[in-house]
Amino acid sequence: QKTIGILTSGGDAPGMNAAARAVVRAALKKGMRVIGIQRGYNGLIHGEMVEMNMRSVSDIIHRGGTMLYTARCVEFREWEGVLKAKKTCEETGIDGIVVIGGDGSFRGAADLSKAGVPCVGLPGTIDNDIACTEYTIGYDTAMNTAMEMVDKIRDTSQSHDRCSVVEVMGRRAGYIALNTGIACGATCILVPELEMKMEDVIAKIKEAQSLGKQNFIVLVAEGVGGSNEIAKQIEEATGIESRATVLGHVQRGGNPTVRDRVEASRMGYYAVELLEKGIGNRVVGLQKGEVVDFDIQEALSMKKEFPMDLYKIANEISF
Ligand code: ATP
Repeated sequence: QKTIGILTSGGDAPGMNAAARAVVRAALKKGMRVIGIQRGYNGLIHGEMVEMNMRSVSDIIHRGGTMLYTARCVEFREWEGVLKAKKTCEETGIDGIVVIGGDGSFRGAADLSKAGVPCVGLPGTIDNDIACTEYTIGYDTAMNTAMEMVDKIRDTSQSHDRCSVVEVMGRRAGYIALNTGIACGATCILVPELEMKMEDVIAKIKEAQSLGKQNFIVLVAEGVGGSNEIAKQIEEATGIESRATVLGHVQRGGNPTVRDRVEASRMGYYAVELLEKGIGNRVVGLQKGEVVDFDIQEALSMKKEFPMDLYKIANEISF
């Protein structure tokens, strides 16, 4: 009987539970044993594990967070840690692992695959910053949460003729900022992929102001940062009262959207099919809506193009 493990690693994302549920149920249905590994690679090194049954993943498909807990594990970055994890797998009989996380977690999955335990990565991060896939689990929920928050800020911004500078998550990627910006009619969207000068931001606001606009939203990705300073400079240059809001971790929680639950279920199922065939060292992703998989090293070396066409649309219709 085949035994697979499942773990979540790195930052959590809504939909990780839906993915874990799909993996557990699909594997049990195929007659495999499933071990839930807690707190990422830590659980593998220190033996924090629970045997999963059909009911272990009941009542979680709609919940944010991860019932397996997640963590960052420094020990696992060293080869010694990887070998300890491998030993746990040998003792427990685990002969394949599904790792839900981001690029860092996939590097760990590649190491463990190299050590002899086939691992399959599922993209779980709200930032959508994984190159081999057009979509990551948690992204849709995070964008919808950010949109709802900006809508609320907009109400009060409108009443007071203010400019609201809102910082959303995305350290290395501006996808949340771009999409939320379009959805909320932001006058300016600042992303880490593109350099934008403060004078251009101010010029755009002034232009919109000259066209009769009285309240403004400026969306800033975390990777650009400095939202308080940006608000201050806008106020100084335009005379428009400006306030900054950093949305922060609210974007990491909440009930996953339909899209996150469905894609998590599809990719989770696919990961089990790979492990069933004994295939490891792969990352699962979505390309043109289809579930696909890549060699982990190849996936990590890929680059994602910033959607300039969408950015252009955002710029041209927000005045
Ligand atoms: P996110 O960016 O969404 O938080 P992530 O998976 O990229 O997700 P990291 O903190 O980079 O998050 O990685 C999670 C864990 O993966 C680390 O704590 C570590 O255990 C393992 N890991 C990261 N990088 C490596 C590496 N180069 N080699 C082996 N293991 C790694």
